[in-house]
Amino acid sequence: MRHQVKGTTWWVVGLARSGCAAAALLQRHGATVVGIDDNDEKTVRRRWEREGLSNLALRAFDTLNTGGSWPETAPEAVVISPGVPLTHPRLQALEKDTPILGEMELGASFCDADLVAITGTNGKSTTTEWIAHIIKSSGRRCEALGNLGTPLSQIADQLPDDAAVSLEVSSFQLESVSDFSPKVGLVLNLAPDHLDRYNSLHDYYAAKENLAHSLSSDGTFITWTECPEARAWSTEASVLLFGADDENSVAFFRDDKLCIRSQGQVLPLLEQKDLALQSPPNFLNALAVAATSVALNIDHQVLVKGLRDFSGLNHRQQRVADLNSVRYINDTKATNVHAVCAALNGYDRPVILIVGGSGKGESYVPLLEVMDAVIQVVTVGQEGPAIGQVLQSLVPVTNASSMDEAVKVATEVALQQSQADVMLSPACASFDMFDNYAHRGKSFFEAAINAGAVARQSHE
Ligand code: ADP
Repeated sequence: MRHQVKGTTWWVVGLARSGCAAAALLQRHGATVVGIDDNDEKTVRRRWEREGLSNLALRAFDTLNTGGSWPETAPEAVVISPGVPLTHPRLQALEKDTPILGEMELGASFCDADLVAITGTNGKSTTTEWIAHIIKSSGRRCEALGNLGTPLSQIADQLPDDAAVSLEVSSFQLESVSDFSPKVGLVLNLAPDHLDRYNSLHDYYAAKENLAHSLSSDGTFITWTECPEARAWSTEASVLLFGADDENSVAFFRDDKLCIRSQGQVLPLLEQKDLALQSPPNFLNALAVAATSVALNIDHQVLVKGLRDFSGLNHRQQRVADLNSVRYINDTKATNVHAVCAALNGYDRPVILIVGGSGKGESYVPLLEVMDAVIQVVTVGQEGPAIGQVLQSLVPVTNASSMDEAVKVATEVALQQSQADVMLSPACASFDMFDNYAHRGKSFFEAAINAGAVARQSHE
């Protein structure tokens, strides 16, 4: 439902990237926009500058209420940023029929293009870009938007109805949706994460579940055969599965070939070794991309080409440098245990694993299951000791006080092997030592170069 905007007053609560994009959209459509943020105005403006938002933000708001002050008069409607609780007393005090929506839902209501919404614990950004790549290769305009960078509302109202949006959706964005109906909803996988934000795993999964409920009968819900929780969710949409080679699945591997099931026929499309991204988690992502392409009726030749020639994203299982037979793998985006397990499960070269950072309330015990290839662990950051404690019964563990030291220690061990990989796959957030995961990845790359390695490709 497109909201009435012209001539009305809206509050936008939370003035970061998505709040600014929502405000600009509202302003384009004739609303008066009041920006609200608990931070003081100086902090808000500094963030705008740092994130290149100043131009957009300075035009988007009619007035600002910062530092904990709220407007006297009530608005017609409110947009909240992920992170602002619906239980906030000022929101609770509004008339019960005042619409309160998230930025993504606002954007969706102004978007005539088809939405393909992608969520899951890991692989969202990669799969979102991969789907966008394939839709674009089919000759259709497609934008990759949402949690991975540009908010939907930044351009939603400027897209033609024959375009598509590959939309990365986080659990935080799904918490408040009531009127959001994408054409396709994809849940890649579910595993513990963000337990610092949610009271329980149940609450985290319940947010994701809203995606299944939001789809209508002409939509398609896609999930992994090995994800029992998502398979049990009720949805009005048609359901497609990817993963295991069984009759319920439309995309799977058979005899090392990626196959799709189309009109009851199994069609082998390409050899697994010819996929663009060669790691077990990305084999699954390729299946998810193929299943989505089936839902969107993408031509099979286009799909095969796109599965082969996608270039992948930096900071995820990215080989950034080499030193003789030592390869440096930057997997800084592995910010939870599940991503590290996916990276190491079945790994076929000896690994020196650099792990640690700031914690999110997860157990590290599952890492014990994937230590087969790991010959040495080097821990860093706040969680380093806790992770070391869990792993030391199986593998030698050293603690390092900086990324430079960690890479140096890891390199010394790696050079004693005939071949080995030094892998940063931290299982933790980065905020104890770095600005963000990309900063941590860059610091890993620079440490590799300091240790004598030669760069292979861009590390930004
Ligand atoms: P997200 O956007 O969900 O964080 P990314 O594509 O940025 O996902 O990848 C984050 C981490 O998860 C990387 O370490 C990546 O190697 C790993 N990963 C990617 N796909 C999967 C998958 N299907 N299952 C488990 N881990 C995955």
